[in-house]
Amino acid sequence: MAEETIFSKIIRKEIPADILYQDDMVTAFRDINPRAPSHILIIPNKLIPTVNDVEADDEMMLGRLFTVARKLAEQEGVSEDGYRLIMNCNPHGGQEVYHIHMHLLGGRPLGPMLVG
Ligand code: 5GP
Repeated sequence: MAEETIFSKIIRKEIPADILYQDDMVTAFRDINPRAPSHILIIPNKLIPTVNDVEADDEMMLGRLFTVARKLAEQEGVSEDGYRLIMNCNPHGGQEVYHIHMHLLGGRPLGPMLVG
């Protein structure tokens, strides 16, 4: 059984976060340490520690991350100029929180690397 992270508490609203979107599959909230004017984390409500733990049954839920990313990019006004989606895996990928999450970054030209 995977160990819960702070993100499970955010999903259950046990600790505060600036939640922008939530449904039965995913939750999206602003990163506490933003590296761009828009820096949002989009996560499955189910605890999957890393991309290495993804299974075929998760495909629908993980697809939802992208439709929510598209909606939030529109909402943030960054769709036209562009943005970046990042998922880090394990130490070499720069992963710090072991509950998979998609970073959505935008609002300025991003340069080569940002998170990790
Ligand atoms: P990773 O390096 O694992 O891909 O990214 C984890 C991200 O989670 C980091 O960008 C970090 O700033 C963010 N983060 C860590 N703890 C919290 C928290 O308690 N609240 C929020 N909103 N973001 C967090």
